Amino acid sequence: MTREDLHAACDRIFDSQSPTLTIEFQGGDPLLRFDLVREAIERIQIKNRHEGRLLRFVVASTLHQLDDAMCAYFREHGVVLSTSVDGPASLHNRNRPLPGRDAYERTLAGIERARRWMGHDAVSALMTTTKASLAHPEAIVDEYVRLGFAEIFLRPLSSYGFAKRNQALLGYRPAQFETFYRRAFERVLHWNRQGVPLREVYASIILNKILSPFDSGYVDLQSPTGAGQSVLVYNYDGYVYPSDEARMLAESGDISLRLGPIGTPLAELQQSAVQQALIEASQVERVDDCRTCAFQSYCAPNPVDAQAQFGRLDTPALETEHCQRHQWLFDFFFDAVRQADEDRLDLFHAWARPTSSPEQETLCDA
Ligand code: SF4
Repeated sequence: MTREDLHAACDRIFDSQSPTLTIEFQGGDPLLRFDLVREAIERIQIKNRHEGRLLRFVVASTLHQLDDAMCAYFREHGVVLSTSVDGPASLHNRNRPLPGRDAYERTLAGIERARRWMGHDAVSALMTTTKASLAHPEAIVDEYVRLGFAEIFLRPLSSYGFAKRNQALLGYRPAQFETFYRRAFERVLHWNRQGVPLREVYASIILNKILSPFDSGYVDLQSPTGAGQSVLVYNYDGYVYPSDEARMLAESGDISLRLGPIGTPLAELQQSAVQQALIEASQVERVDDCRTCAFQSYCAPNPVDAQAQFGRLDTPALETEHCQRHQWLFDFFFDAVRQADEDRLDLFHAWARPTSSPEQETLCDA
């Protein structure tokens, strides 16, 4: 990203009227350009002296480049870290190959360093389910417990970028993810019964929809979509995208979801033809399949996913992987709630409470 674009992105963030702004730096790996990350944080903090918003900074990174000076800076500026841990070393290193086959060891060293300098909760982790993960749901959950994380997000593989190009190597059928999820979820419950408070984030999102009157604002299930409205991505190519998935689509050659060049006022981006088309294609009451769906009060179609899977925002919802997965998840959790005893129901209600959402107000890709 050029310095000019970086400054314009930092300034435009304040076009949002939200009293709370989350700014997440993603890469590549943002720590490779720590100088730019620091410049952005300081510019935003200076501007915020007049704005008075509540700011939350997140750096998403492998943590391989993390050093003591960075940790000290992040601690001073209240920055938290997000990394990827796919499971035990053998699985993580297989999913994320490096010449030294030490991606796991280097990430773990980063987690330990971050915790030492910034406190135990300053770093969270995400996992991605690949074909290689399917046989190891219990080991993956156990790894999160061993590393002392309070949350695990059992995420399926996305249909974007690298993952889409490598479907044969990494991909699987939806039914295989369902079996994996059931087993991993059982393992999470097992640990909770042992007094280890591990929260599964996907369960929390669905239970929040079912059990809580306060929506946690999960972008992918909002109607109309939160993409472009509660999230914006300022990319290094000089353009603004409505979500990270839309940005990944552009990386693979489909630039149809660009909202406009960085520096465009927010009001103009939101009036853009692309944003209007996203809103149109994500309203449950206007989309044929969703209009008659039993889950329409909790769910919404995801036009960015539809564009990635079929090249059309208005693909019939029932054909999309997003719809099929969420139909299954809502069925699964309605059953789980119906069968829950009092203790399990207490746990589900605790998970259903909105927490600081992983879906960000504003993303800034350094
Ligand atoms: S489950 Fe499918 S049909 Fe139902 S609201 Fe969600 S996307 Fe629409």
